[in-house]
Order: sequence, then structure tokens, then C-alpha cells
Amino acid sequence: MRGIIFIAPPAAGKGTQSDLICDKYGFEHISTGELLRDASEEDNLEALYIKEKIDSGELVDDELIIELIDKKLHNLKTNGFILDGFPRNLVQAKMLNEMIKNFNLKQLYVFNIDVEFSVVMQRFTGRITCPDCGNVYNKLIDELKPKKDNYCNDCDVMLETRADDNEETFTKRFELYADETEPLISYYMEKGVLHRINGNLDTMQIFNQIVNILEGE
Ligand code: AMP
Repeated sequence: MRGIIFIAPPAAGKGTQSDLICDKYGFEHISTGELLRDASEEDNLEALYIKEKIDSGELVDDELIIELIDKKLHNLKTNGFILDGFPRNLVQAKMLNEMIKNFNLKQLYVFNIDVEFSVVMQRFTGRITCPDCGNVYNKLIDELKPKKDNYCNDCDVMLETRADDNEETFTKRFELYADETEPLISYYMEKGVLHRINGNLDTMQIFNQIVNILEGE
């Protein structure tokens, strides 16, 4: 079993890279944002709480997210997984550490996608997602445009801009990343599992850096 974690600001391309890795290696893509967006559509109080947090760009409660991840990891049917959007802070990283002790984990890779703010802004501005499968596209970046304008390549469903992809929420999410998530870089560096990726390049150049590390080159 191999595990991958991303430490990267919002709209750095974690979802896109996760899809490419899963296509190549058959890993399971576990996106906490996606799981939470699904949970926010249920008809209960917890759904309202989650929606409020997502819409304001704040983090949901650690306990709730850890429960979601734990369930997913216990039901894994693949020989690898990608945690996209988790851990987001030190509490979550320490909990993950405990959880994976029960797994026969051969290797944990932590990819820090290092990307400039202006690049992230461009990726964020054009981002459109499929409300059904969560596929991510970008109307401003040629290689990330859907085959048919505004429709998902896989589901043929009309693509949408995520409700939390507005400038105000994005700035808040970016600040939260700097305050809560970025400190994980030194946490994982000390554990010797951190790999820095130049995230200012195009999609395939970023992917190639990741593949080289996974292939041990
Ligand atoms: P994402 O799709 O990763 O950008 O996540 C969208 C939103 O879901 C975030 O802005 C948070 O409100 C929430 N979220 C996702 N992952 C986590 C997490 N690990 N811990 C707390 N909140 C999360």
C-alpha cells in the first residue's frame, strides 16, 4: 500500500494531479472537499453546518473530517490512496499518523506543490467543476478545457463554478492555508517524507515530477 498527501494552496492543481495519478496507478482519490460537498447536500443539521463552513472558507471540525477519512481508509480496495485536502492542520496530521499505523503502508509521499500566488489566482479564476463526479476543468487554460464547452468529458453534465470559488472566500482559504496547513511542510520534512514540486509549470510538467518520485528516479 502506498499513500500520497498534498500540501498545496487552494487551486494549486491537487485535484487535477490526483486524477492523473489515479489513472496511471489505480489509486483511490479521497478528496475531503468532495466528500464534504456531498455531505452538505443531505437533509440534516450536520449538512447545514458543513455548507456554512465551506461557503465561508473556514475549516470544518477536525473530529468530523477524521471520521470521514477513517471510514474511507478502512474500505479501501486499491493498493494506494491519495488524500486530497487532508491533513489541513497539525491535529489532523497527527491523527493521520495514528490511523496509518494500522495499515501495511509501504511508503507515504508528501508532495508540497510550491506555487506562486499569481499562478494560483489564474487557476482559481477559470476553474469549473462537474457537480456529479467532481472533475476539475479550467476555461482559461487550454490543456484543461473540457472537450465540449462547459460540459464534463465523462458525465456530459453542465460544469459549474464552485460556490466557494469567489474572491472573498478564496482569500480566506489562502490565509488559512498559510496559517494552518503550511506549517505541515516542516512537520513532514522532519519525518523525511516531503518532496517539493515546482507547481508553477504546466499540468504535465508537474505530473512528470510526481511520477519521477513515485518511480524512485
Ligand atoms: P477543497 O475542495 O479541498 O478546496 O475544500 C473545500 C472546503 O471544504 C474547505 O474550504 C473547507 O471548508 C472544507 N474542507 C476540506 N478539507 C478539509 C479538512 N481536511 N479539514 C477541514 N475542512 C476541510
